[in-house]
Amino acid sequence: MSWMFEKVAEEMGLRPPAGGFKEEAQRIEHRRDPLTGRWSRINVRRAGRLEDAAGSVDYEGLARRSRDGCAFCPENMDEKTPRFSPDLIPEGFIARGETRLFPNLFPFARYHAVATLTRSHFLRTGEFKARQIEDAFSAGVDFLERVHNRDTGARFPAIGWNHLSPSGASIVHPHLQIIMDSRPTYLTGLVLEGCRRYIEERGSSYWADLVREERMLGERYIGSLGRITFLAAYAPFGNGEVLAVFDGRSSLSELDRGDLSQLSRGVVRILRGYAAMGVESFNLSTFSGPMEGAAEGFSLHIRIIARPLPAPYHTSDTGFMETLHLEKIVEMLPEDVASAMKKGF
Ligand SMILES: [Zn+2]
Repeated sequence: MSWMFEKVAEEMGLRPPAGGFKEEAQRIEHRRDPLTGRWSRINVRRAGRLEDAAGSVDYEGLARRSRDGCAFCPENMDEKTPRFSPDLIPEGFIARGETRLFPNLFPFARYHAVATLTRSHFLRTGEFKARQIEDAFSAGVDFLERVHNRDTGARFPAIGWNHLSPSGASIVHPHLQIIMDSRPTYLTGLVLEGCRRYIEERGSSYWADLVREERMLGERYIGSLGRITFLAAYAPFGNGEVLAVFDGRSSLSELDRGDLSQLSRGVVRILRGYAAMGVESFNLSTFSGPMEGAAEGFSLHIRIIARPLPAPYHTSDTGFMETLHLEKIVEMLPEDVASAMKKGF
């Protein structure tokens, strides 16, 4: 067991009614994120819970019902999506391939854009093409650079993707969100601080050490493309979490075309892996150092997590432990996620 990967395994004894109240023990693993100290709890038996709100998923109905008048569909876009002020983006929006990037109508950041990923209104998780993801990310990075050049106080970027309603997406049509803030998000701040502390104490980069360790252990290593390593996260934020770590890049502003192409190909493989597991809704986010780059010991990274199926009624995977104690309860072992993902990577 490596020093990086701290866990506490506990058991709770109980007598379930099914099978005649026979004594059984359920294993709960508490895993600590090596950098931030954040804890996750894993009990794989929770995957078997009966959910009152379980329902079947009518994807065609979902696509049909939400398509009428969709502002993100090509025929409505010109009329229904907002434009940037000409002093920021003279064309009013950024177009690239199937992507159009425009302001979020209800922003929660100083700069907050939306970028459509596809011309088609609805795609299942396994249907995305690398080209679509690459164009949307590339338009996002272009937007961030243009913002930062004009307003150097806007330094901390993030690109996020909520896919379908269980993930928090209010619109079915696939889209990314691109934000730029004057401060890092709470978690990005913790990670930046942790990386500084780590390099002071150990004289090496946390991310380089993590990738080396995970490659050596092999249990959570999925694969790599160019400078990007794909891992199942040791102490996950959610079910099926995949962590993609960029070697030698600390900020979204440092990505070149090769990086964007490899990132997109990797994300497509992960999404196909999700499709094979029956996952249709997910969240993805980048964690980036500041736009000026060179954040010491910090590597740009991306986390992707699975969310519940988009049924008419579903049980959320976020309860009091997650929202109020900031501890995730997951029901998939990271080592099982890695072995499932490896098959198609
Ligand atoms: Zn649409």
